[in-house]
Amino acid sequence: MKALYLTGKAQVEMRDIPVPECPDDGLLIKIDSVGLCGSDVRTYSVGSAKINYPVILGHENAGYVEKVGKNVTGWKVGDKVVANPAIPCGKCYYCVNKMPGLCDNIQVAGTSFPGGFAQYMVFPGDMLSRGQIIKVPDDADLEPMILAELLASVVKAQDDLKVGMGETVVIVGSGPIGCLHAQIARLHGATKIIMAELNKERLDKCHEFGGTHFIVSSQEDLVQRVMEITDGRGADVCIVACPSAKPHQQGVELLRKEGRLCLFGGLPKDNPWTTMDGNLIHYKRLRIFGAYSYSAADFAKGYELLAAGRIDTRIITHTLPLEKMPEGVRMIQQGEAIKVVLKPWMEE
Ligand SMILES: [Zn+2]
Ligand SMILES: [Zn+2]
Repeated sequence: MKALYLTGKAQVEMRDIPVPECPDDGLLIKIDSVGLCGSDVRTYSVGSAKINYPVILGHENAGYVEKVGKNVTGWKVGDKVVANPAIPCGKCYYCVNKMPGLCDNIQVAGTSFPGGFAQYMVFPGDMLSRGQIIKVPDDADLEPMILAELLASVVKAQDDLKVGMGETVVIVGSGPIGCLHAQIARLHGATKIIMAELNKERLDKCHEFGGTHFIVSSQEDLVQRVMEITDGRGADVCIVACPSAKPHQQGVELLRKEGRLCLFGGLPKDNPWTTMDGNLIHYKRLRIFGAYSYSAADFAKGYELLAAGRIDTRIITHTLPLEKMPEGVRMIQQGEAIKVVLKPWMEE
């Protein structure tokens, strides 16, 4: 089978390797679609402490059951599936205390074991036993289902933030995550959804995904514009979905009293520092939320939203053959694409 190996920083190699063995307690999956995630883009361009080269990335996987392990029941060859790639141990403090996304021993497809940047991959027995594989109806399109993984983290973050009816939500960053935040905020009943983004070309692409106001923050004063839109009170919620610290500062300024700020995006490893006006946090009684990871329940909610047609999946702007992964990275980095899906069986 064809598999795309990441062999070093910004180095990939298509290799012809044997199809993996199907484990007795797991499934062998023929990959139909695999999302090129922001974390893959980062791993490709700057590396990651979590991986060892060479590695087959890919954690947003949808495909067909190719083989069923001999001890497995309830699945058959040809079933369409999408899987939550993060397998918690079930035993550590966080698993026991209902925070499986923060498991100390979490195993993730494409990091801890080979992912979906290949024609086939194994869904291990632990995925089955923890209810992490979802059967997609035969007549449903598999490709958009890869968004369940992003949606899981977005749904979890907005559950924590308790985004509510009639609220004003500012979303900084208009990549796939920002576009999904806008859609989920709208589903929660937010009425003013302000999307802000440095790159005008990127912002122009996402006008149909739930936003009501759009601010090019490299050209306009974000704080001032939000104050104008909210009659000087400030926004209820601000979600920073980009790898930058400046919007944290702006967030504490543009929020109303008791507003909620969410740090959804990570910061560069070599410069993770952020500064915010502590007096604004103090006097306005602001609430600051970190957002990272999700549970199998969050993943299932993401899937249900997709299956019910509640998500505008046109945020998938490009579909490329697997070998074009570096081209996909470039398109994302330059703002040409919102979400890129790779297809291991597509001919160039
Ligand atoms: Zn992802
Ligand atoms: Zn655990």
